[in-house]
Amino acid sequence: MNAPLPPEVLKQHLIDPEICIRCNTCEETCPIDAITHDGTNYVVDPDICNGCMACVPPCPTGSIDNWRLVLRSEAYSVQEQFGWDELPGEKPLPGNLAEGAPADAPAGASPPAAVAAAPAAPAPSLPGASVPPWSAAHPYVNLYTHKAPASATVVGNYRVTDEDTGSDIHHIVLDFGNVPFPVLEGQSIGILPPGTDAQGRPHHARQYSLASPRDGERAGYNNLSLTVKRVTEDHQGRPARGVCSNYLCDLAKNDTVQVIGPFGNTFLMPNHAGANLMMICTGTGSAPMRAMTERYRRRIARGTNGRLMLFFGARTQRELPYFGPLMKLPRDFIDINLALSREASQPRRYVQDMIRERAADVLALLADANTCIYVCGLKGMETGVLEALRDVVVQAGQDWSILHDALRREGRLHFETY
Ligand code: NAP
Repeated sequence: MNAPLPPEVLKQHLIDPEICIRCNTCEETCPIDAITHDGTNYVVDPDICNGCMACVPPCPTGSIDNWRLVLRSEAYSVQEQFGWDELPGEKPLPGNLAEGAPADAPAGASPPAAVAAAPAAPAPSLPGASVPPWSAAHPYVNLYTHKAPASATVVGNYRVTDEDTGSDIHHIVLDFGNVPFPVLEGQSIGILPPGTDAQGRPHHARQYSLASPRDGERAGYNNLSLTVKRVTEDHQGRPARGVCSNYLCDLAKNDTVQVIGPFGNTFLMPNHAGANLMMICTGTGSAPMRAMTERYRRRIARGTNGRLMLFFGARTQRELPYFGPLMKLPRDFIDINLALSREASQPRRYVQDMIRERAADVLALLADANTCIYVCGLKGMETGVLEALRDVVVQAGQDWSILHDALRREGRLHFETY
């Protein structure tokens, strides 16, 4: 049991700048705005953080889960943390204080001792699970870091949307040769774009989900694929050139790329016979769904697959990545539902509209304890999808909050949204 810390001592929450991929997930998750960032680092304000741990499970890299015992009067300030390239080591506390404090500050998703002793705000419940499905394979994470990245060679780069559309989405295949890079479907990697930012510092890594299954884009090869949309405007629609997406989309065969990761230990697929997958995605959020679908496709002959149901949103059919190959999949293998939002001949449809339209089949899958649900894509879809699932369940006279709790507790509902 953790002894309460002396009042002068703080178990300070810190983010490891060497592992952090600056994805903004922690800042978005923090319910009390204790996390902030500058052009270099994401940091935790010691004057605001109450150790509620809400930010820990969603962090894809685990860089968020770092703690140091410090004197409150000497806590690392936000400004100090902005200047770090690496975490400072443990500093011994003065002798009389060290006796009352735990010997180390272990990593792990349990509240830090200082917080456990003090009243803290309850952690807000996450929309999805913070554990993987029970039958998921064990993932490797953080094998390669900013300081020691892996080198991969581009062996393929081609566009997967129609040429005359504004959505320039590429399928990029990276080969690791003899470098070990074990991955699972649902995991992501970080790409280090070459060059420096406006302050002259190396660009930080950008995160991309794998679009290929664990045994390679080409089965039996040490390669993987990504789905990358060329960013040409910012969220307000003003012209902006995405540093990493343009770098990746312009790569030629035999170019080399610096890679870190892999990341992710919860958005993983089940491995047991009869497991069903409900996959809900928009645009390039289809990457992990392609990986999982391909894993199942390669195992059709075994006869152990459960059902696959896909809800896929895109502006138009011509902007939907992988439309051609997707349509070639057998109808008895995967139940495909396309939600097109800007198709001139049709009213606007989002994935959540399709979920409601398919209520009976969605309900049947939700009722099966072998079903895992994956949601990936635009941040905005998160609420809409949850509401649609809730409506389907409530309209059948069932209790959504009981089912939602079970889906989270059993690692059967996963979100990856940006
Ligand atoms: P997009 O083309 O902008 O949008 C795809 C579709 O989603 C459109 O039909 C869009 O409709 C619709 N949509 C917009 N708001 C929605 C909402 N609130 N609920 C449901 N549907 C909604 O998508 P994208 O540019 O490809 O972006 C996909 C997202 O996935 C990005 O944020 C990306 O960061 C993220 N992501 C990418 C990867 C990867 O590995 N590449 C992995 C994970 C996540 P309208 O625009 O017509 O309204």
